[in-house]
Amino acid sequence: MVSPVFYKTRLALGGRLSRLDDIRREQWLPSDAVEDLQKDLLARLLRFAHDHVPYYRRVLEQAEVVSSSGRIDLTCFERIPLLDKRLIREHFDELSSDDLAERRWGYSFSGGSTGEPIRIIHDSRDDWMRAVIILFDEWSGRRLAEKQVALWGAQSDLQEHGGSVRARWRQRLRNQVWLDAFAMTPDAMREYVDVINRYEPKRILAYAGSIHELAKFIEREGLHVYSPVGIMTSADTLHRAARATIERVFRAPVYDRYGSRETGPMASECDYHEGLHVAVPTQHVEILRADGRRASPGEIGEIVVTCLTMWAMPLIRYRIGDLGAWAEKSCSCGRSWPLLREVTGRVCDNFALSGGGTVFGGFFTTPFFGMDWVERFQVVQESLQLVRVLIVPVRELPPQERAEADLRRVDLEMRAVLGDDVEIVHEFVQDINVSPTGKLRYTISKVSPVES
Ligand SMILES: [Zn+2]
Repeated sequence: MVSPVFYKTRLALGGRLSRLDDIRREQWLPSDAVEDLQKDLLARLLRFAHDHVPYYRRVLEQAEVVSSSGRIDLTCFERIPLLDKRLIREHFDELSSDDLAERRWGYSFSGGSTGEPIRIIHDSRDDWMRAVIILFDEWSGRRLAEKQVALWGAQSDLQEHGGSVRARWRQRLRNQVWLDAFAMTPDAMREYVDVINRYEPKRILAYAGSIHELAKFIEREGLHVYSPVGIMTSADTLHRAARATIERVFRAPVYDRYGSRETGPMASECDYHEGLHVAVPTQHVEILRADGRRASPGEIGEIVVTCLTMWAMPLIRYRIGDLGAWAEKSCSCGRSWPLLREVTGRVCDNFALSGGGTVFGGFFTTPFFGMDWVERFQVVQESLQLVRVLIVPVRELPPQERAEADLRRVDLEMRAVLGDDVEIVHEFVQDINVSPTGKLRYTISKVSPVES
């Protein structure tokens, strides 16, 4: 019989918890020590990137961040050109470190929060990142391996965590029950409430849009639901009204976490809920105005991230595609990790299903994972019967056969959740208009949800 105790012991014996004590201590460092820590981590990353990543050797020398004698000058950091998804695609090999043969690494795919598919190389083992995940969990009231329900469902996660015996064993080991967040039909939602009531999780982890949908359903149907210690939302923007509904229905506080598939977890609310603390040991975050200068506290700007512990393919000054603002005051908890007041712009519409219920908008990024010939996409639900898929291809298209095979797969995966009676049409376009907030929306639905 597997147990969470076994899981914890295994992690500990494998050295996988080696950074946890460091990170627990570092969350209480005074602000000057936090600044020193970030500078030290940045310098180490830049040194590595210069010595091992051809793209950065050139770029860092041009920006005079690294001199020809190898000296690091952090005062020139803001001269480093911003990295975006197009540059990653165009310089993929040059952005990979030259010591991959000695690393354990893998590819990770993302639809991004902007509908721009991207492939990145990740270190398979990052104990700092793991420690941050555990610390954020602790902030939201869940200690390592305590019972959790995950209302989640990116395709690669489902493959890892879904049906296989090994995956189920792993889920049990982690004390976690996985519920597919993509297709939220009335029947599925009724079953999810049953699972939550039987399992009595310490915490629920969910997409903000999905748990909000479930909360509305519970309220509408007058169902009883078990109250966990906390609910952690992630992946999409949590709106104030949605938070209020979720907290009312589950009778539990919501902790918003900010992260992405490319960067891992970046920031989270503590139990004071005054903003999201940036994970100083793993992430360096900047918020920039349109002219590239630093935004003042309270001022919305573009979020630019440097991942301090990802060395297989360093992301330095990466334009993640989100907007945000720094908090104007520090958090009452006493932690001096920088505080984001908000992260905005991660908007995606959910799609209505003809039989009632919805499909979480985030689902529509997953069929595009690995399609590196797609620069941008947008999925538009025109009616319950018609979905248009707009695609901006990169300049060099793949062989026609591969493109057709990819599009057939997109169709299949979309039909699996939308139903077979939906017509899906593809349109190749030159560009896709951004929304009035300057954000590319990758899903738009012109259909109101069907009340069940
Ligand atoms: Zn705090």
